[in-house]
Amino acid sequence: TLSDRLADAFKNLRGKGRLSEADIDATAREIRIALLEADVALPVVKDFVAAVKERARGEEVSGALNPAQQIVKIVNEELVNILGGETRRLRYAKSGPTVIMLAGLQGAGKTTLAAKLAHWLKEQGKTPMLVAADLQRPNAVTQLQVNGERAGVPVFAPQPGNGVGDPVEVARQSIEEAKRKLHDVVIVDTAGRLGVDAEMMARAASIRDAVQPDEILFVVDAMIGQDAVTTAQAFLDGVGYDGVVLTKLDGDARGGAALSIASITGKPVMFASAGEKVTDFDVFHPDRMASRILDMGDVMTLIEQAEKAFDQEQALKAAQKLSGQGGDFTLDDFLEQMQQVRKLGSMQKIMGMLPGMGQFREQLENFDEREIDRIQAIIRSMTPAERDNPKMIDGSRRARIAKGSGRQVSDVNNLVDRFFEARKMMMSFAKGGGLPGMPGMPG
Ligand code: GDP
Ligand code: MG
Repeated sequence: TLSDRLADAFKNLRGKGRLSEADIDATAREIRIALLEADVALPVVKDFVAAVKERARGEEVSGALNPAQQIVKIVNEELVNILGGETRRLRYAKSGPTVIMLAGLQGAGKTTLAAKLAHWLKEQGKTPMLVAADLQRPNAVTQLQVNGERAGVPVFAPQPGNGVGDPVEVARQSIEEAKRKLHDVVIVDTAGRLGVDAEMMARAASIRDAVQPDEILFVVDAMIGQDAVTTAQAFLDGVGYDGVVLTKLDGDARGGAALSIASITGKPVMFASAGEKVTDFDVFHPDRMASRILDMGDVMTLIEQAEKAFDQEQALKAAQKLSGQGGDFTLDDFLEQMQQVRKLGSMQKIMGMLPGMGQFREQLENFDEREIDRIQAIIRSMTPAERDNPKMIDGSRRARIAKGSGRQVSDVNNLVDRFFEARKMMMSFAKGGGLPGMPGMPG
C-alpha cells in the first residue's frame, strides 16, 4: 500500500539533518507510484509530484520535525490545497428558490444523492423539493419518489398519462410549483448515460437553461478511476458545473478520482456520499480525503503532535527568559522567536489579532520574510559570547561580523539596535503580565 511504500521511503530519511536532492527524488518516486496506484490520473500525478519536490527543496529544515515528517506534511498540505482547502458552502439564491441541478453519468448516484441532499437541507431548516427530470429510464421517477419519501421531501414529477414526456418542460414547471408552494430549494435530478454522449449533454444543457440553476453539481462515483478526467472534462464542457460530489465513498476506492477531478477542473469537491441510507452524506472534508488518498491519517496526527509539543517548548523557554528565570533574552532567542513567527504564518494576520498592535501595523505590512534569512546570516557570524551578551559588540566586532556575513556594517548596526528595541519591548510586555512567546519584531 501507499503508506507502506512511504513508510519505507521515509525510513531511509529518518535522522538525517537536511534533505538532499537524492532523498527528495527517492521519496518523490514513491509518492508517484503510490498516487498512480490510488488511480490518480498520470498528468495530475506528474504535476503534483513536481510541486512537492519544488517545495521540499525550498523548505527550511524544521526544528520540530524530522525530514521524513516534513515531506509528509508537504504532501498532505498540497493534497488539501488541490482538493479545495476549506470546504465550499452552497450558494443560496438571493430571492426565490435556490435551484440545484445534478449532472453525471448513469449510475453515478444522482438520484440517491438528490434525496440525501434534500434530507440534509431539511435538517438545516430548509423546505426543499425534489424534481424528477430523468424520464429516460422507466423506473427513474418512482426511484426518486421512493427516495424522497425516505427523506420526507416532496417530489415534483410528471403525472402519469398526462402527456408530459419532456424533462425540460417538467423542470421548467417545477420552478413555478416551488414558487407557489414556497419551497426555498429545488433539487433537479437529471438523466445520465453509461458513457458521455452528445444527446445527453444537450438535454442536460437544455434543462440547465430552463431552470437557471444557482449551483450545478457534478456527481461522480469515487470508483470511476482513470476515466475521471475525461468524464469530468466532458461534463464541464457540455453542461458546466460549480462543484463536485463524490459518491460511493463507502467502497474501497482510495479517492484518487477526487484529486484528478479537482486538479484538472479546479472545481471544489463539495459533498461526499458514502452509503445507501439517506443520512450517509456529509460536506466534503479535504483534509480527511487527503489522509484517505495517502492512507496516512495516523502519521498526520503524530506530525501535528510533534509540532505542538515543539511550539510549547519554545514558548515556555521564552516565557522563562522574559520573567528572568532563564537568563537574559539573547540574540539567539531573538532569532529563534522570529523563526517561530515565520512558522506561524502571516505576521499581519497574527498581529492583527492581538490588542494594542495597531502601532506596528506599518512595520508589519513592510515585513519581508527574507529579512529573517539576512538576520540569521548576521547572527550566525557572531561568536556565542556576542550572542549572549550583545552589549559587547563594539565597532571592530561589527566590522568583523559584517564581513563574515557578507553584509554592510550598517546592517549589523541596524540589527543590534533593533534587538535592543525588541528586548525592551518584550521586557515591558513581560512586566505587564505576559504575552508569552511574543516574537522579537524586525522593523
Ligand atoms: P444515478 O443513475 O446517477 O441516478 O444513480 P443512482 O442514484 O440510481 O445510484 C446507482 C446505484 O448506486 C444504486 O444502486 C444506488 O443504491 C447506489 N449508490 C448510490 N450512492 C451510493 C453510495 O454512496 N454508496 C453505495 N454503496 N451505493 C450507492
Ligand atoms: Mg437517477
